[in-house]
Order: sequence, then structure tokens, then C-alpha cells
Amino acid sequence: MARPGPLSDVRLKDYREPVIEFSCRRCGRHGTIERKLLVKAFGAGVSFAGLRRRMAMGCERMQTPEGDKCGAHFPCLGT
Ligand SMILES: [Zn+2]
Repeated sequence: MARPGPLSDVRLKDYREPVIEFSCRRCGRHGTIERKLLVKAFGAGVSFAGLRRRMAMGCERMQTPEGDKCGAHFPCLGT
């Protein structure tokens, strides 16, 4: 893992709520996803850091010359 952080320590299997909230203030994105759909797609061992990257796919701020400037986070995790 290039940049270990709190999100990479939390895995889908550690989070038990049926719905996961995702938002990016900078892009104006906000949504909720069912946990079981994420488990089906990525497996229960996926970290939230990995989920964040996938869910922010298409966010042009995610990869800039200065690095990751996307504000994507999971409000439900308090990040
Ligand atoms: Zn973003």
C-alpha cells in the first residue's frame, strides 16, 4: 500500500451497516450503496481505501500532477 491510512485499515467485512454512504464535496457527488452489492462486486476483504478509488472513478481530481485532490470520503466512517 503506497499510502497507508485509516481507510486502508478498514475492510468491508468490518463494517456492518447495510448501506454505505459516499460523498465527494468537491465534485458534488453524494450517494449510497448497498453493502451487499459491494461485497458481491469486490469481496468482503476489500478495504475502504480501495472502494474509495473505485467509487471516485471518473473524478478528475483523483489523479492530478499534485496527487490525489479528490474530496471523496465515507461520512458513515467519519472520514
Ligand atoms: Zn472527487
